[in-house]
Amino acid sequence: MTGLSDSFQRPINYLRISVTDRCNLRCLYCMPEEGVALMSHKDILTYEEIFTVVKVAAGLGINKVRLTGGEPLVRLGLADLVKMLAGIDGIDDLSLTTNGILLAQNAAALKKAGLRRVNVSLDTLKPERFRKITRCGELMETLKGIETAKAVGLNPVKINMVVMAGVNDDELVDFARKTVDDDWHVRFIEYMPVITDDPLTTRLFSVKEMRKRIESLGKLEPWKVDVGNGPAKYFRLPGAKGTIGFITPVTEHFCYLCNRLRLTADGKLRPCLLSEQEIDLREALRSGAPPEELKRLIEKAIASKPERHYLAEGKKQKGRPFSQVGG
Ligand code: SAM
Repeated sequence: MTGLSDSFQRPINYLRISVTDRCNLRCLYCMPEEGVALMSHKDILTYEEIFTVVKVAAGLGINKVRLTGGEPLVRLGLADLVKMLAGIDGIDDLSLTTNGILLAQNAAALKKAGLRRVNVSLDTLKPERFRKITRCGELMETLKGIETAKAVGLNPVKINMVVMAGVNDDELVDFARKTVDDDWHVRFIEYMPVITDDPLTTRLFSVKEMRKRIESLGKLEPWKVDVGNGPAKYFRLPGAKGTIGFITPVTEHFCYLCNRLRLTADGKLRPCLLSEQEIDLREALRSGAPPEELKRLIEKAIASKPERHYLAEGKKQKGRPFSQVGG
């Protein structure tokens, strides 16, 4: 392995792959109610094509892969892809981000196929509110998914809560208490104003405010985590087995730590979630490009990673919705 770095000397070792643009929820802050125009099936990378990209990327030093979407579990046979990727030399962390709705029925097969761990997005513990935020989902399904994932050993199961002022900030303490009562690992994420016609545009709730609320339960003790230590800063409440993480994409960007590349469902490499720049791998894959050419394109994407995003300065993501890019 050579090890990759971008032009700002950031080591790049992490590939996030959107395996589908389709989703079984319509979260307020992610998609318009009517959904977004869907890609046609022939535009979406096949599992063999994804495998080829990951194999080449692993040869360049990528060792972490996360599957996301859209909702990755709506793509049929995802465990087959997991098995293919888990067998690639050099990939030592293979994980999944999901809304959990289909997790209970898939967790055991995913674990058996070689998935290491799972992050579940969950913004409320109230069934009515869950239906409102997701516009159609059932909270019980996601809770069942979390419990099943823990039971089959997809650990640590991390719960990602996007905190939105006036929408779910009143549940911060309830989620924090789950780290004591149920050993949950909860990460509180600042809401990013990413879509232009977003009904929640002004709903940022900063990590600083979150901490204040949560500290009503006790002092947060800084905590070092061993697995998947990304941009979150971790803490523990007194007596808790679970951890609390804070992620500040808006009030304190962590772009200087960014080690990621993203592969969209239709085969474009995106050096940054929040920039429109893309490099087409699908074209190369389908015209029979040799591994050397794919390597060159991956290196080109890395070399063109922007230094940072400008969300805090009010710049929005343009172009594609999160569901296509892989949030
Ligand atoms: N369907 C999967 C899920 O729900 O986890 C994977 C895709 S979803 C786009 C990935 C993550 O992006 C979710 O945790 C979601 O909460 C987060 N996300 C989407 N829009 C966001 C926003 N505007 N601000 C912060 N996080 C956002």
